[in-house]
Amino acid sequence: MMLAPSPLPDELASSYLGRVFTLNGLTVSGENKSRFTCGHSNETGRQGEISYLRGLAESARMPIEAFRFQHTLLPFFAAVQVDGPPDLLAPDAQTSKMHLAAHRGVRNGAIFCPNCVDEDLGFWGVSYLRRMHHIPGVVLCAKHGAALHTVTAAGSQYSQPHATKSRAVPLAQGVVDHAKSNEVISRYTDICLAMLEQRLTFSTEKVAATLAKQTHQFLKRPRGRVPGDHLSSMVSSKAGGPWLSMFFPAFANRLEGAYKAIVDRTLTNRRFSQPTAAYALVMAVLYESCDDALNDIRRSEVHDRQQAQRHEAPSARLESAVKSFLAGESIAQAALSHQVTRPALEALLRKAVVPHAHRTLLP
Ligand SMILES: [Zn+2]
Repeated sequence: MMLAPSPLPDELASSYLGRVFTLNGLTVSGENKSRFTCGHSNETGRQGEISYLRGLAESARMPIEAFRFQHTLLPFFAAVQVDGPPDLLAPDAQTSKMHLAAHRGVRNGAIFCPNCVDEDLGFWGVSYLRRMHHIPGVVLCAKHGAALHTVTAAGSQYSQPHATKSRAVPLAQGVVDHAKSNEVISRYTDICLAMLEQRLTFSTEKVAATLAKQTHQFLKRPRGRVPGDHLSSMVSSKAGGPWLSMFFPAFANRLEGAYKAIVDRTLTNRRFSQPTAAYALVMAVLYESCDDALNDIRRSEVHDRQQAQRHEAPSARLESAVKSFLAGESIAQAALSHQVTRPALEALLRKAVVPHAHRTLLP
């Protein structure tokens, strides 16, 4: 029986595992990790990864969906989905595809903000790695505005950052200066951080259609085809420099790199999702703010839902509105998107004993 602390806010799964092992006097070795994975020590590859996540969730005494949502980069990597679950916290979101997506992003190495480390030591008595510092392309701490530091040594993703601080190096000054002075990069960061908190995923088809419409408006060309490489050219011209070269190297050498094609496909490919970072880059170029971008896509999802529900009975619409509320929408949003009146929805929610009812009774 192992002692297990509660995970801390935004704590990365690997950092939590490191703390559990330290508390129990264990080192993070392959053998100890296998013991930890709920006794499924003979499982390797995909199944091993899933067991590992299950072991962490059990330690944290959290449902696996909640652990994945709060302590891995899953909400970011799964933000745009062809056929994934629309709600990452729904009980039927337990697919191995989702478990594996939760593992992406962090393998070896650690990234942290020195100011957060000092604050955490003072407040919690421990320091830990945060998810928001590990999103690809994020170079500044959202809380302190400080440049992030990295440690590349193998296994540092399990360590407490105050212990590895002396070996850490700040991100290259040129990259940090570029990110600080460029509006597109700052919007990219805002969009990625917002996606990390979002439990409702976007459909690939809807995102592509919305971005295509926005591209035409942006170019003031309501009709006609947009040239195939137009988006990647816009990204190059508006965000080109040390930051883009470091995180998206295909843009650096002006070759027809694979990543450029991925960026251009965000607009045209409705059957396969592109990496989330590519969607975030395109949104950062096409919209003036993170809210503008995400609200535009949400609006188009809501519009489609309304079309589909036009012929539904009022009681069915009310039921759907309650589900949307429980999935994280505000009362106002849920009432609007399911075409029910707000007082009717509010009255039903007040009567029901639901765990989240106290949360958003304000608009
Ligand atoms: Zn910080």
